[in-house]
Amino acid sequence: MGWLANWRRKRVLEKHRIDDALWLHATKGLSFITNLFPPEEEKLKRLVILFLAEKQFSGAHAIEVTDAMRVSIAAQACLPILELGLDWYSGWTGIVLYPGDFRVRRSELDEDGVLHEWDDELAGEAMPGGPIVLSWDAAANDPEINVVIHEFAHKLDMLSGAPNGVPPLHAGMDRRAWLGALNEAFEGFCDALERGKDTWLDPYAAEHPAEFFAVISEAFFQEPKETRRRYPDLYDQLKLFYRQDPASRV
Ligand SMILES: [Zn+2]
Repeated sequence: MGWLANWRRKRVLEKHRIDDALWLHATKGLSFITNLFPPEEEKLKRLVILFLAEKQFSGAHAIEVTDAMRVSIAAQACLPILELGLDWYSGWTGIVLYPGDFRVRRSELDEDGVLHEWDDELAGEAMPGGPIVLSWDAAANDPEINVVIHEFAHKLDMLSGAPNGVPPLHAGMDRRAWLGALNEAFEGFCDALERGKDTWLDPYAAEHPAEFFAVISEAFFQEPKETRRRYPDLYDQLKLFYRQDPASRV
C-alpha cells in the first residue's frame, strides 16, 4: 500500500467514528464479535470504518440497505482480517445485498458438446475479481451458517488464484502442514457424510476443498472450541493464517 492510501486511511479514521448505539445494534446477537477483547474490538471498529469508506454497498430487488446492515456485514467481514489488514480485500469494491436467496443462471458444456443450463439458488457468492453478493435474510436470520464470513473467506482463498482451500500462506507457514491438515479434515468429513454420520459442519462443505475452507472458517470464528476439539491440526493452521486464536476469547 502506497503512502497516499496510507494518508487517506489516516484521514478517514480522523474524521469518522461509529456511533456506539449503532455498533451495539449491528453486532447484537453476534457473540463472536461481542466476545472480542476490548483492544480487538477497537481495532475491528477502525477496520470497519475503513471498510465502509472503501467498499460500496448496493441493494438489489428494492431492498433498502441501512447503516445497521452495512455495519453488521462490515464487522463480520473484517473479523477474519483483523490481524491481516484491509489490503487482503483489495482489488474489488462491490457488496450487493438481496433481500433473500437469489437465483443465478449456470451453464456448462458437457463432453459431448451439449450445453446444460440450470438455475442455482444462492445465499451468497464471491465473484472472482468482482463483488460479493449476499442474501440479507441468510446473513441476518440463518443461525446454521455465516454467509458473510463464508464469502469473504472465499475472497482470501482467491488471492492465490483459483479457490482451492489454500489462501496465500504467511512466511514461516508450512504449505505441506496446511494441505495435510486441510485434506485430512476434508476427507474425514466427506467419509462421515457418505456413511450418514452426523457431520456437525454444513454438508455443503463436502462440495470442494475451497468450500470446506470457507465453512471451517465460519466455524473457526463462530464455534472455535468445538472446531479445535474436532479438527485440532486444522485449527492450528487457521490460527497461524488468521493470526487469531478465537477459542481464547470464549
Ligand atoms: Zn462457498
